[in-house]
Amino acid sequence: MPSERPLIDRLKDRQDIMVATTQMLSDINSGSYNTHGIKKVNHALVDIFSPLCDKHIQIPTAPTSIVEDDGTLTQFHSEPMEIFSIRPDAKVQVLCTGHSDTVFPKTSDFQTSWIEGNVLRGPGVADMKGGLIVLYHALEAIHHSDFRDDIGFTIALSPDEEIGSPASAKILSELAKQSDFGLTYEPALSDGTLAGARKGSGNFSIVIKGLSTHAGRDFFSGRNAITAAARVSILLESLSHEANGVSVNIGKISGGGAVNVVPDTAVCRFNVRTNTIEQQTMISTEIQRCIHEVMHQTQCQLSLHGGFNRPPKNINKQQQDMFDLLKICGKQLDLDINFKPTGGCCEGNNLSAAGLVNIDTLGVRGGKIHSDEEFACIDSFVERAQLSALLIAKLSQHKKING
Ligand SMILES: [Zn+2]
Repeated sequence: MPSERPLIDRLKDRQDIMVATTQMLSDINSGSYNTHGIKKVNHALVDIFSPLCDKHIQIPTAPTSIVEDDGTLTQFHSEPMEIFSIRPDAKVQVLCTGHSDTVFPKTSDFQTSWIEGNVLRGPGVADMKGGLIVLYHALEAIHHSDFRDDIGFTIALSPDEEIGSPASAKILSELAKQSDFGLTYEPALSDGTLAGARKGSGNFSIVIKGLSTHAGRDFFSGRNAITAAARVSILLESLSHEANGVSVNIGKISGGGAVNVVPDTAVCRFNVRTNTIEQQTMISTEIQRCIHEVMHQTQCQLSLHGGFNRPPKNINKQQQDMFDLLKICGKQLDLDINFKPTGGCCEGNNLSAAGLVNIDTLGVRGGKIHSDEEFACIDSFVERAQLSALLIAKLSQHKKING
């Protein structure tokens, strides 16, 4: 096996350039529905990654349906996926995934980045623009090392992770089936802990259609869509079960207008988390039961949209072996690497469901993600790039981790 020391040394003085590039990306708004901003970030990422790559293509994403607050359905066309390949004929193939979108829309007050001591604050600095920069530098170090010819990469950047990967999930799954290992660059916790098992998740909307009448003249022949939404919400929430790890969160109810009108339209939006696929099947049946019960009670029409988009990520032997390999890499850098289960989910769930063993929190250490206090720890940029480079070096020497 070639020496790993040059990898660590090559990266050790990269902090300033890594932070500066992350700031440049953070300062471009790329909320999931801001296609113009995502295009701009993707342009910058193509400039960054291309010098390492043999080939770059865009894969168009299929349009996805969005339920608007007035119950109508519209189509959303996200940007294409950016796919790069490096040495596709090498004996070990790694799929590296990340996303260029953030949760911060164009209208958010949180638009630019700044440095406060050891912390870089800004939209997407941790989730996951900083992570993409960690990935680039790790690959760059490998590119200039003796490990280079043993390992090839597909880098897949998606535009829609923060809304559940509706358009990119299928493409990710296909790429996962052609790879030996997956690396995803979501942030680790600020203390360095990575995500282990992950719950599965689904996003749903129920569109409720009632009958609008005048609240004074004809109240009793109306059918109130908002109270039907309330009834179905209570039933759905009651499917939650703390001990089993199942939760149903009613996130938003919209509808109605003037108080002297019986409202004829409402939309109830909710998110479901589960520990197992069996629970997803069970909850799907239960959601239908709740809908039928409320239709029967209220004479309103309820139609369900959405579904489970991320299957649970469970830890099997192969997955545990990959975690253990990262722990060994951590030791070489004097880092105590730990994994903790989480209710959150990400592309790592999708890779896992496609049978690809993966680690999905290889990005910077950081925290307060999805809030205007999001931060990345500045001293983690080099550390995590070195950690990834070491992991890749070890993977280059394995065909399969347990094979
Ligand atoms: Zn993310």
